[in-house]
Amino acid sequence: MHRPRKRFGQNFLHDPNIIRRIVGSIAPQAGDNLLEIGPGQGALTFPVLEACGKLTAIELDRDLVTLLNEKKPANAALTIISQDALKADFSGFGEALRVIGNLPYNISSPLLFHLLGYAAHIRDMHFMLQKEVVDRMTAAPGSKTYGRLSVMIQALCRAEKLFDVPPGAFFPPPAVDSSIVRLVPRDPAGIPAHDPAVFAKVVSQSFSQRRKTLRNNLKGLISSDAMESIGLSPSERAENLSVDDFFRLSALADG
Ligand code: SAM
Repeated sequence: MHRPRKRFGQNFLHDPNIIRRIVGSIAPQAGDNLLEIGPGQGALTFPVLEACGKLTAIELDRDLVTLLNEKKPANAALTIISQDALKADFSGFGEALRVIGNLPYNISSPLLFHLLGYAAHIRDMHFMLQKEVVDRMTAAPGSKTYGRLSVMIQALCRAEKLFDVPPGAFFPPPAVDSSIVRLVPRDPAGIPAHDPAVFAKVVSQSFSQRRKTLRNNLKGLISSDAMESIGLSPSERAENLSVDDFFRLSALADG
């Protein structure tokens, strides 16, 4: 028996109905290039492997790497890589990657941003995350949860919440509710040209004080005149801007 380790964010899925629903949402097909982050004891690994015949998984906990290698059926096309996913080079796994994972919640944001750096290699991603994080990732402008994370994710991906998962589906049960999210990288041709560092700065600064206007939050970075020149009111709040508005704003900071 493996004792779940808190420092690795280990909450193992054990509810067969939830596992079936997740695998059904991923809909793995023979020939798909599947990559799992944090396979744990294989709750998703083995059913996905069965459906598509081939899978690579990255696991940080060496004891679990050993356990999975012992558990894997003879001749299974399952490669377990013993590594920190935060340090993985995701350009080395081939094209049209389908990334999946019940992610360790303590590193979910840095891991998402690390992965987005490889968006060109990725076909889609299905993740279990904290419900609150998924709600922020998928929020629309004007809603209470729309903020920096929503804009940064939706700038590069179509983000869709699929369903919620209660704590009882895991062992040990986490303290929070979880949700499954599907992320599909946008066609690069449809993403306005932008400097990623400037874009990140404009978005972060725009939301730095939620109750304040763009004029206040962007002082020193973009003038009110420049905002007005693209039809944005300086007295607007960041939470009411679309992702495309942020691309247009960021172009002003560029120039
Ligand atoms: N997929 C399994 C499941 O659904 O039962 C385990 C999910 S558990 C929430 C997260 C898994 O990610 C654990 O197996 C943990 O050891 C692994 N993990 C934690 N940090 C990691 C990292 N930086 N890179 C790769 N795997 C990591």
